[in-house]
Amino acid sequence: MAAIDIEVSEVGPRDGLQSITAIMPTAAKKAWISALATAGVPEIEVGSFVPARLLPQLADTAELVAYARAIDGLKVAALVPNLRGAEDAIAAGADKLTVPLSVSETHSLRNVRRNHTQMLAEVRRIAERLRDLPAAQRPKLEGGLSTAFGCTLEGPIAESQVVAMAEALMQAGCDEVGLSDTTGYANPVQVRRLTEKIWRALGRDSLTGIHLHNTRGQGLANALAAVEVGLTTVDASMGGIGGCPAAPGASGNIVTEDLVFLLEAMGLNTGIDFERLLAARRVLAGALPAVELYGFSAAAGLPKGFTPASARSAQPV
Ligand code: ZN
Repeated sequence: MAAIDIEVSEVGPRDGLQSITAIMPTAAKKAWISALATAGVPEIEVGSFVPARLLPQLADTAELVAYARAIDGLKVAALVPNLRGAEDAIAAGADKLTVPLSVSETHSLRNVRRNHTQMLAEVRRIAERLRDLPAAQRPKLEGGLSTAFGCTLEGPIAESQVVAMAEALMQAGCDEVGLSDTTGYANPVQVRRLTEKIWRALGRDSLTGIHLHNTRGQGLANALAAVEVGLTTVDASMGGIGGCPAAPGASGNIVTEDLVFLLEAMGLNTGIDFERLLAARRVLAGALPAVELYGFSAAAGLPKGFTPASARSAQPV
């Protein structure tokens, strides 16, 4: 099999489902995760270790991590807001933990009632806990730079502040940081510039992934900029589920199906089979019939004679 050029990380089971009120039954989530993995999706963020009273939609995260880690070759990611969540994620067997830190301190205080100093102390505690584990069992720790491209409360966020928070997260013990356009404010020029600023400060290994929302329809343009500058992991959610309460008709994360089509059409191998991805979309649609699924490629289908990147690289052009 040809090497994967871009890793698509499916975040629908976490970011998508946490933003809709309908609760997807655990059995349906397992069927969806399984179908995504069968399509070749290399990484899935299956949930978030937050108290069930805050997010009842994700109350089954531990069970889903345990289920997903048994799927051969799949990287299982989970969001953890604190040490308690990290302990649960480690116990369940997650491969990757993402701790979100809002670069906007106002957003951080509003969302998790913690300022930057408190959040960084928590990240340090998580990193210390991970260092106690044998290397083979140690999940990767990512610091997610939320609101990196702008905040609904503070407005523009200084890029120097994003770089400073990236440095602080790495110093606190993260293996990597990730850029997150929580609010759908990003544009492609900003994606390129901010990525390069963080690389200049911390080296390329410190930042490989980006999390994009399509609130203003800029998601795929931003994904293209990310891939062109050299980022290698792009988050997306199947059907763009989640939406944005402030922007009716707007999808949540960028749509996995459209992202995979874009990348494969450009000759970048994702390792994902488009038809099987559509089969996973049918599993999702069947489980949540009242939830709107977004995306154009699923409706339009592949162009006549379309050759995915993986098939192309197998034979000399
Ligand atoms: Zn998000």
